Amino acid sequence: MSQKRIAIFGSTGSIGTQALDVIAANPALFSAEILTAQTNDTLLIKQALEFKPNMVVIGDEKKYATVKDALAGTDTKVWAGEQALEDVAAMDCYDMMLAAIVGYAGLKPTLKAIEIGKPIALANKETLVVAGDIIMRKSAEKKIPIIPVDSEHSAIFQCLVGEGKNRIEKIILTASGGPFLGKKPNFLVNVKKDHALQHPNWSMGAKITIDSATLMNKGLEMIEAKWLFNLAPEQVQVLVHPQSIIHSMVQFEDGSIKAQMGLPDMKLPIQYAMAFPQRISNDFPRYDFRKPASLTFEEPDIKTFRNLALAMEALKQGGNMPCILNAANEIAVYAFLRNRIGFLDMTEVVEQAMNKLPFIANPTLEEYFETDGEARNFAASLIHM
Ligand code: NAD
Ligand code: MG
Repeated sequence: MSQKRIAIFGSTGSIGTQALDVIAANPALFSAEILTAQTNDTLLIKQALEFKPNMVVIGDEKKYATVKDALAGTDTKVWAGEQALEDVAAMDCYDMMLAAIVGYAGLKPTLKAIEIGKPIALANKETLVVAGDIIMRKSAEKKIPIIPVDSEHSAIFQCLVGEGKNRIEKIILTASGGPFLGKKPNFLVNVKKDHALQHPNWSMGAKITIDSATLMNKGLEMIEAKWLFNLAPEQVQVLVHPQSIIHSMVQFEDGSIKAQMGLPDMKLPIQYAMAFPQRISNDFPRYDFRKPASLTFEEPDIKTFRNLALAMEALKQGGNMPCILNAANEIAVYAFLRNRIGFLDMTEVVEQAMNKLPFIANPTLEEYFETDGEARNFAASLIHM
């Protein structure tokens, strides 16, 4: 494999920094061509000095001068602002985009990369939740792969290697259950952000950690899976598996089930997506079946964790409903992280947005953008932000 030039959009986040660890461990295979961050100028500068990318983008324009000054005398070009993310994504200087921005903000740069025919390693699940039909259609037109980084979807992708056109009966997305597995609403009503930010198995960015605690993350992943693997809503099942060893499973039409397993470590799906179809050796810790441990499974409690039920509803309705769900959820999660609303209020905000905003069965890209904006405004008006 010749050296692949990776554009990491969201290089200062949990996925981005782990991707840079993978690049640092495999300098013959990968280089960092573009790095982007929203606000963390200090880390972006440090990364640029170490990885010597062609370009960096700092989203927050107020930090442009700081980054520019720190990188003066290097060959790294510095850009700033939201539009720069799209402009840089549209440049033909890299081989693959790792889409690791969190939330709706990742959609437009990813679209640009697809439009110029760049393969995508996709961590940013919200992109598919918001506009999965358009993303999948455009990537098919350009004949470029969207290789999932999300561990469940990477698991399914890996189970499908070599299966050709063999029909999938269903996929089983595993969920850890998050920190509040087994808890009821009378407990959840008092949950504060510090507790919700303690995930039992994974260390991740704040937004996805809260989504994991509410099970919204699993709902977003159901929608993500529908698009990635071209499934009907009924073919996507969720199963709680608290040990997070089986990362997901595929059941084929002959009843045979394949699972992909390993210790929970995002570096594995990140490097798999970046190196696909090759596997890269590493010294990450291995799961040992001889150690006494049992793998357990249970149904998700969607009566308590109503976000998952709402996401299932959005998945079933399709159209712009997942976009409404996602936008309202982003507003709700950030409000919860700022202690503005309670844990269960997040569900209320999403549900009210889904009830209130006009449904569009086959939205254009422009209508997705409008829906996102309207749903955000509506959600924010509920919170009085
Ligand atoms: P994070 O919060 O740790 O990092 C987010 C990155 O995006 C940062 O580099 C930040 O600078 C950038 N960013 C934030 N807001 C931005 C904006 N408005 N415009 C441009 N850039 C912006 O998030 P993360 O945990 O690394 O997650 C990134 C994505 O990957 C999410 O969509 C998440 O759902 C998905 N994902 C993460 C994990 C994980 O283990 N962390 C696992 C599976 C999927
Ligand atoms: Mg996941």
